[in-house]
Amino acid sequence: MAEPSFKGGVHPAYNKEATSTLAIVKMPLPQKVVVPMQQHIGAPCELLADVEKIEKGFEVKAGQKLGDNKGFVSAPVHAPISGTVVDIGPYNHPLGMKINAVTIESDGRDEWMDNTKPAGSLDDLSVDEIRKIVREAGIVGLGGATFPAHVKLSPPEDKPIDIVIINGAECEPYLTADHRVMLEKAEEIIFGLRVMMKALGASEGIIGVENNKPDAYKLMERLVAEEENISAFSLPTKYPQGAEKMLIYVATGRVVPAGALPMEVGVVNHNVGTAVAITQAIREGKPLVERVLTVTGSGINQPANLLVRLGTLVSEVLEYCGGISESTLKLVVGGPMMGLAQPTADIPVIKGTSGILALTDEDVYLAESSPCIRCAKCVSSCPMNLMPTSIAQAAEHGNYKRAEELYALDCFECGCCSYICPSKIPLVQWIRIGKNEIMKRKNK
Ligand code: SF4
Ligand code: SF4
Repeated sequence: MAEPSFKGGVHPAYNKEATSTLAIVKMPLPQKVVVPMQQHIGAPCELLADVEKIEKGFEVKAGQKLGDNKGFVSAPVHAPISGTVVDIGPYNHPLGMKINAVTIESDGRDEWMDNTKPAGSLDDLSVDEIRKIVREAGIVGLGGATFPAHVKLSPPEDKPIDIVIINGAECEPYLTADHRVMLEKAEEIIFGLRVMMKALGASEGIIGVENNKPDAYKLMERLVAEEENISAFSLPTKYPQGAEKMLIYVATGRVVPAGALPMEVGVVNHNVGTAVAITQAIREGKPLVERVLTVTGSGINQPANLLVRLGTLVSEVLEYCGGISESTLKLVVGGPMMGLAQPTADIPVIKGTSGILALTDEDVYLAESSPCIRCAKCVSSCPMNLMPTSIAQAAEHGNYKRAEELYALDCFECGCCSYICPSKIPLVQWIRIGKNEIMKRKNK
């Protein structure tokens, strides 16, 4: 029988070999960290200056809350190391702008707040207690989406959830951090899934793993063999298999309607790293102050999967990996399909940083774009059934009304259309501009 699959998608060169067999290495404590007040989707954090006197010259401990926002869709940020606050103010951010951040110089002692302790047995925790722990730990979607995890664990009462999916697809080329997390922290992923199922009252848990990671799939399959309501699911290898609508369709057969959230079809999904973070918050009382990321690309001297404290500067991570070669053409944070090219390495690792890529001409093909030849490859590659060429043209001509009529807002910027286009037209970049303009006008 043919494997279930979704419409569209592409098969880029995956280039995961350089790091897929490298165990996660804990990077030494950074000399300083820069902690931006915005590391999630939703309301940015405000500095807790009045409450805890976070100001220049103050000593902070690891795990100390630095910023928060009372808004429901938000997540607090914490100090990733102990040390002295040496600066507060706008700092370069991987999103390409300056955002208010707290800079902490390490005291080298890594002293933790003494309120970081285990929450107790999962059986004894109420649903509200679980949601509160996840919120207070500042946990967001670590696959790159950075949506606050407690929000996904708190659906409205009229949207019952029966299935939780753990996303181990890691369909972006080059990235292997999730693969290594699955191999090295499998038990923590499964415990995190149980926590989510309890919080949501879900009767079924599915761990989806792309079939280009057979060792991780087999391990998950073995570890959940005795579980009645948890299973491992082998996903076909195709980009963007890890996007939530594609993942839900392939793993459950349910179709999330355009413009709707997965909860409409009774499903919530979380990345494997998010599951581990939730486990650590419950078992150790640890807030989200570190993450696993992949550092790779032909320009990296020593590729690695690293456990890095948040706020560590990308320049310090690159230095730890032996630096980058002079032939590096492009520095990217995230994967090559959905990541963002960076003009500088003077930016901090944030909660959504799944990878750092130094790409040379071995990895990227830089070409001038040429006129559209109407081949329709972009249309057949679009997993959302959109017409990328028409939306991009509307955006390029400033016709944002037309772009909206063509469902530009349903585009989740997977980049398949740009990747497949023989004329190298930057379709997704134009669509992104169009989406921003449409949203600006809506918000007015
Ligand atoms: S239009 Fe958007 S969703 Fe469709 S292929 Fe392009 S980037 Fe992906
Ligand atoms: S893939 Fe490129 S050349 Fe082909 S129709 Fe789309 S925009 Fe035009």
